[in-house]
Amino acid sequence: MSSGTADRVWSVSEHLDNILRQLKPLEPIELQLLDAQGCVLVEDVMVPVALPPFENSSMDGYAVRTTDTQGADASHPAVLTVIGDVAAGSGELPTVGPGQTARIMTGAPLPPGAEAVVPVEWTDGGTGGAPVVGMPAASRSPDAVGGEVRVYRPVGPGDHVRARGSDVAAGELALSAGTVLGPPQIALLAAVGRATVRVRPRPRVVVVSTGSELVPPGEELGPGRIHDSNSYMLTAAAREAGAQSYRVGAVADDAETFRATVEDQLIRADILVTTGGVSVGAYDVVKEALGEEIEFRKLAMQPGKPQGFGFIDAGARSEAEGDGGDAEAAPPEPERTPLLALPGNPVSAYVSFELFVRPAIRTLMGVEPVFRTTVRAVCEGDLTSSPKGRRQFLRGRYHPATGRVTPVGGAGSHLVKALAHANSLIVVPEDTTEVAAGSEVEVVLLD
Ligand code: AMP
Ligand code: MG
Repeated sequence: MSSGTADRVWSVSEHLDNILRQLKPLEPIELQLLDAQGCVLVEDVMVPVALPPFENSSMDGYAVRTTDTQGADASHPAVLTVIGDVAAGSGELPTVGPGQTARIMTGAPLPPGAEAVVPVEWTDGGTGGAPVVGMPAASRSPDAVGGEVRVYRPVGPGDHVRARGSDVAAGELALSAGTVLGPPQIALLAAVGRATVRVRPRPRVVVVSTGSELVPPGEELGPGRIHDSNSYMLTAAAREAGAQSYRVGAVADDAETFRATVEDQLIRADILVTTGGVSVGAYDVVKEALGEEIEFRKLAMQPGKPQGFGFIDAGARSEAEGDGGDAEAAPPEPERTPLLALPGNPVSAYVSFELFVRPAIRTLMGVEPVFRTTVRAVCEGDLTSSPKGRRQFLRGRYHPATGRVTPVGGAGSHLVKALAHANSLIVVPEDTTEVAAGSEVEVVLLD
C-alpha cells in the first residue's frame, strides 16, 4: 500500500480529512450514568414524573395555615400548638388544623391543612423566648416536639414552599439527543430516575510505543537507554480527549514481536496509536510490520513529517464462508480497526496526536467540538528558520489576558521540557519562513 504513493507529500489538512472521512461514530450503547460522563446522548430523555414530585418545604421551620399567622409581629406573636414533626422522607403526615402547626424540615412534604412554612428563625422555636437560629437535633431532644411555638412574622400562601413540578413538569423534555453529559446533566438524569442512558461510548484507544532503547520510568537506565515518555503522554492525552485509554509497554524494535502485540490488542481497541518506527531508518519496525495495511505518508509539516494511517483487519470472519450457505445474506462486515502510526520524537508524537488522533477520537465519540480552539495572538519573539513548504508547529505559552504568545524552547522535536511548559502551539504557515516579534500568529490552545 505504501508503494506508489511514497513520493507524494500530503498537506496537514489532506491527511486529516483523509482520516476523518474514513471514520464514523461508534454505535450507541446503554451505559450506567457515571460511565456516560463526557459522552453524547443519543436519545431524547423525557421527564416521567414532575420535579419536585410533591409540594415540599424550602426551609426548616413550621408548617402553618396562613390565616393563623396574620398580623403576627414581635410584640403580638401568633401562638400555635405544635402537633408533630415532618422530616424529609416522612410518609405519614399529620393534618394541621386551625391554631396548629407541625415542625417541618427542608425537603419534607407539606402536610395537609398547611399552606406555607414559617422559617424557624421567625419563631421562638418553642422555647418561649426570643427568636432562635435553629432547631435542636431531634435525636438529642425528643421532647422538643409538642407544646407551643411563637411566630413573630406572618406568611402568605406558598411562602417557603416548593410547588410540585416547579423544577420541571412531567412529560417535558429533560435532555435532547446530542447533549454532552457533564455533571449537571448527570444530576438531572439521576433526579428523573434514570439509572442508564443511551450514548455513544468512549472510544477505546490502545497506545503502543516502539523502540529497543525504551525503559519504563521507575527502572534503571542502561547505556544508550531512555525512558519511554510517549506511551504515558499519549495514554494521558487520549484520556483527556474523552477516550478510554490503555497503555501497552514499549515494544522492542522487532517486527514480529510488534506485529503480534498489535494483533493481541485489537480485541480491546477502537483505535490503535503507535509511536516510533515510521521513519527511514533500518530499524523502523512499524513500517516493516504494517506496510501491507498502513499507508506511510510524508507530511508537509514540522515536526511530524512521517505519519502512518490505515486499518488493521481485526480477524475478518473467515467462518462466515460456507456457513449456512445463504447466498443472499450479505457477508458480515469485517471489523477494521483504525491505526495511526505517529513518529517517535516526543514533540512530534504529541503534535501529531493533537492534529490527527484527538479529532479522530472525538469523531468516534460524535462529540463537538472535534477541533481545538485557535486564536490569533501577538508573537513575543522572532521566529526564524521555519522550513519553506512545511507548516510548522512551535510550542508557545499563550497569555489570555494580553492576547500574546511567547515561544517556549526551540523547534527541536526532542524538547520534552519545553513541551511541558507550553499551553499552545504556534502555527507558522507553509509559505512563511520567518515571523518578526510583534506580528500576529495563529495559536492552537491546548487547554
Ligand atoms: P523513531 O521514530 O523510532 O526513530 O524515534 C525517534 C526518536 O524518538 C528517537 O530519538 C527515539 O529514541 C525517540 N523516541 C521514540 N519513542 C520514544 C518514546 N516512547 N519515548 C521517548 N522517546 C522516544
Ligand atoms: Mg525507534
